[in-house]
Amino acid sequence: MEMSSKLLERAVAEISQLPGIGKRTALRLALHLLKQPEEQTQELATALRKMREEIQFCRQCHNISDIEVCGICSNNLRDKSIICVVEDVRDVMAIENTGLFRGIYHVLGGKISPIDGVGPSQLNITTLVEKVRSGGVKELIFALSSTMEGDTTNFYIYRQIKDYNVITSAIARGISVGDELEFADEVTLGRSILHRVPFENSLKGL
Ligand SMILES: [Zn+2]
Repeated sequence: MEMSSKLLERAVAEISQLPGIGKRTALRLALHLLKQPEEQTQELATALRKMREEIQFCRQCHNISDIEVCGICSNNLRDKSIICVVEDVRDVMAIENTGLFRGIYHVLGGKISPIDGVGPSQLNITTLVEKVRSGGVKELIFALSSTMEGDTTNFYIYRQIKDYNVITSAIARGISVGDELEFADEVTLGRSILHRVPFENSLKGL
């Protein structure tokens, strides 16, 4: 796309790096930002920069947080002996929205996917296994999407912790196979956590 301004061209090139944004949309957004009052665009730039510079990952559960330990982990009313294992922070948000889970989370940061070059070492699995080994964990709830990668990841973790005294369960599949957690409606998701099933049951099909 030939543009009369190199500055505009650069902004468009950056915006179009975002997922789902093509060159045309990027141009529309850039022109929109130019039309807005300058302060508003500055606000956006500052918000993005501050988010990128200052955001942290909770040292205990790897959830996104503004402080070292996230609000869920530091909440005394949460049951620290029940850990819900999720793929990413969007799943934490989705489950929190149901208001039905009073335990804590462990965010893996993805799932094992050899095709995408993601192995167990790239995920937050060691810290989870460590938590179980050091005791105090009564139950692990696997809440990964029921895709092949999700199942592989669950099973990988299960194998490492099965000899410890911990109950493993998987969220009930009111959610159809292959659905991503973040798209499940709150009622279904809430129910699937309450009606979780022993993880061993989900292995019978393997
Ligand atoms: Zn946390």
